[in-house]
Amino acid sequence: MSLTSRILIAMVAGLVVGIGLHYFMGAVEAGLASFIQVYITDGLFDVVGKVFIASLKVLVVPMVFVSLVCGSSGLGSDNARMGAIAGKSLGLYMLTTGLAITLALSAAIIIQPGANIELSTTSEFIAKEPPSLKQVLIDIFPSNPVQAMAEGNMLQIIVFALLFGLSISRAGEQGQRIREFFDQLNEVIMSMVNILMQIAPYGVFCLLAALFAEIGLDILGSLAHYFFTLVGVLLIHAIAVYGSLVTFLARLNPLQFFSKMRPVQLFAFSTASSNATLPVTLNVVEKRIGVDNSVASFTLPLGATINMDGTAIMQGVATAFIAQAYGIDIGVAGYLTVVATATLASIGTAGVPGVGLIMLAMVLQQVNLPVEGIALIIGVDRLLDMLRTAINVTGDAAVTCVVARSEKQFDMDIFDTPVAQLTERTE
Ligand code: ASP
Repeated sequence: MSLTSRILIAMVAGLVVGIGLHYFMGAVEAGLASFIQVYITDGLFDVVGKVFIASLKVLVVPMVFVSLVCGSSGLGSDNARMGAIAGKSLGLYMLTTGLAITLALSAAIIIQPGANIELSTTSEFIAKEPPSLKQVLIDIFPSNPVQAMAEGNMLQIIVFALLFGLSISRAGEQGQRIREFFDQLNEVIMSMVNILMQIAPYGVFCLLAALFAEIGLDILGSLAHYFFTLVGVLLIHAIAVYGSLVTFLARLNPLQFFSKMRPVQLFAFSTASSNATLPVTLNVVEKRIGVDNSVASFTLPLGATINMDGTAIMQGVATAFIAQAYGIDIGVAGYLTVVATATLASIGTAGVPGVGLIMLAMVLQQVNLPVEGIALIIGVDRLLDMLRTAINVTGDAAVTCVVARSEKQFDMDIFDTPVAQLTERTE
């Protein structure tokens, strides 16, 4: 059975077991319910789920660093090519994020998911100030590479790895030896990712079972309108925007692209973290889709940090929803501020679970909407976080394919070969 099918089955099983346990615990006597909670949902499932996430995360920093050093040293001193890759990916990331928020705001204004909402909740959400553009720019440059790695600061790691890789390519024979070492290290790390992918079904099962045992499905009730508007926009964005990018700009078969991306989306859905999914994204995009390391090692870590279309869509729909629920009209200027703040906030924040809510607090503050409006949607946010993370990683991969194709750093043979025949090479 393919890895994708195994993860998919584990996901469905986790969902069913989790939801089943949620209602079972509600129906049986308190003693039994708390036994199940302590030893099974908060016990076994939580432990296995957390260990799985930790094993993914542990690979992120070494993998991004080593892979990007390989990529940038491979480009040699071809500064023009480096500039082209950076320019195209940044441009496309901004473009897709802009499209995402615009689509989200338009849908939310037309559908009005927040009309007829009763405002009875309050919360203690305190918004942080959005970072200024000046600070965002300064923070990209590391003063201490070890600290950047310890903190998992992706943009700083990218800058350091680029510099390191470029210097290797300028250091002649010694540089060549170091480069070979990094190439080999890169293969070792890829093979660690493969080991991890094999145990993924167990991790995914436990993560979902623990989560759904806790939240159940009741929460959906009053927020169904908001939930389904958001899910609809996420799907439209994935199909229309990414489908078009892949078909028209990258000139690839979109069905093949989406089918090869499935394991990445399942990982993103289960972990709700673009960052933790990065090792799998890099592995799949290079080894199964066919993008060369010189492009993927730069565009994917960058995308996991600054390109969050799913999150931007949530900001758009949620802002409009909260404005409607409170009966406040923020006007066109208000909506433009939403676009600008959401984009800026997404550059400075990492792709980790729940970060979208923190960004939303900043956005609401900027347009003078009550931040406590977040309490309205917080109940379904965990579920939506999983969905929008799957969209975020798909966006990173779609842009990566466009850039790779335009730079002729793409292997059509790999792309055309079905996963089953590639598995020998990758698993
Ligand atoms: N969890 C999302 C990600 O990692 C970010 C968010 O929307 O909260 O991409």
